[in-house]
Amino acid sequence: MTTKIQDVKVILTAPEGINLVVVKVLTNQPGLYGLGCATFAYRHLAVKGLVEDYLKPLLVGRDAQAIEELWQLMHQNAYWRNGGIENNAISGVDMALWDILGKLAGMPLYQLFGGKVREGVPIYRHADGRSLAELCDNIQKYREQGITHIRCQSGGYGGGSFGPAPAGAPERAAPGIYLDPRRYMRDTVKMFDDIRGRIGLEVALCHDVHERLKPVDAIRFARQLEPYDLFFLEDAIPIEEGEWLRQLREKSTIPIAQGELFNHPLEWRTLITDRLIDFIRVHISQIGGITPARKLQIFAEQFGVRTAWHGPGDMTPLAHAANIHIDLAARNFGIQEWSGTEPPNFVLQDLKGPRDALLDVFPGLPQLRQGYVYANDKPGLGVDLDETEAAKYPCDAGVTRWTQTRLIDGSLQVP
Ligand code: MG
Repeated sequence: MTTKIQDVKVILTAPEGINLVVVKVLTNQPGLYGLGCATFAYRHLAVKGLVEDYLKPLLVGRDAQAIEELWQLMHQNAYWRNGGIENNAISGVDMALWDILGKLAGMPLYQLFGGKVREGVPIYRHADGRSLAELCDNIQKYREQGITHIRCQSGGYGGGSFGPAPAGAPERAAPGIYLDPRRYMRDTVKMFDDIRGRIGLEVALCHDVHERLKPVDAIRFARQLEPYDLFFLEDAIPIEEGEWLRQLREKSTIPIAQGELFNHPLEWRTLITDRLIDFIRVHISQIGGITPARKLQIFAEQFGVRTAWHGPGDMTPLAHAANIHIDLAARNFGIQEWSGTEPPNFVLQDLKGPRDALLDVFPGLPQLRQGYVYANDKPGLGVDLDETEAAKYPCDAGVTRWTQTRLIDGSLQVP
């Protein structure tokens, strides 16, 4: 019997105060459904509308196992292709179809990807602190948990919190998160010097520039960080200035990770074939789900580029699980960002914090144990959704503020 798509639903939930978008694809087989992540946290209503108003009518009645055909059908259906809203909507369906396929096969997804090449997935955690002592304490806590790779930031990504323009800004400058790139560079170089001085060279350290430097400054910054043996430097160059990666590569030996904002293969193809980056770091729902992510992983393998998929808090456990299943089967796996089960630093002491709500809504999240994440070996993605619990945490459609980053003259700087 052909497994046909009978219904496509969107479930919105925010168990941690972050808007999450889930797509549920129901089939004509009793009890058989799939779940996928369509989270574009800051445009969640647009994704919901796209799935319900356009993808559902396109998909109902079609063969749920024809994943490649349906991905292309969704991708081409609006004539104009790509973009974050479109790709996240497609991702929700795509992951759900893979989930269904795994359930039909009775296998976890990593089996369908060729089987495990590693037993657990090494991850990195994000450490921050209001002072160097607090940051080093947080690094130490992670090391005691068996975590070997840690991303260190000094004061977030070099900005404070949203507020009025500070002293030094021109009259009538708009409120925002104000950045001082020169101070950020000085503070960060000093931070890595102090960390290495205190805890030595054993731990692998990463750092995220978050596109907040001009390219020429990013090159100088990368060279200043070379003595501290970074595992990688992330998003040093803004996506719009991608050609500068060639100069960064020529002028520095620092390992380069790039790509959480990428949408389209044209954005990564040359970076990989010309070996201008070391780690490809896409946000897999942002490029359209598991189908394109698997193609990208295998493509990158041919050029010695490793994966380091984006794994922040603003995606669902379904997407974390998708990352993990691909990682388990990928020869060219590098490292996995993980924010899935452990609370962030500020609630480390309070395990009754909001992460419990996330686990109530999404039972089955892969587990972190002693530095490795393990899939749970259930068929498909292995993560479920409790819709009654999900309904307890409504999303917020307010204006997004953390992306309103500005330089001291009041002009906008990409966030
Ligand atoms: Mg990043």
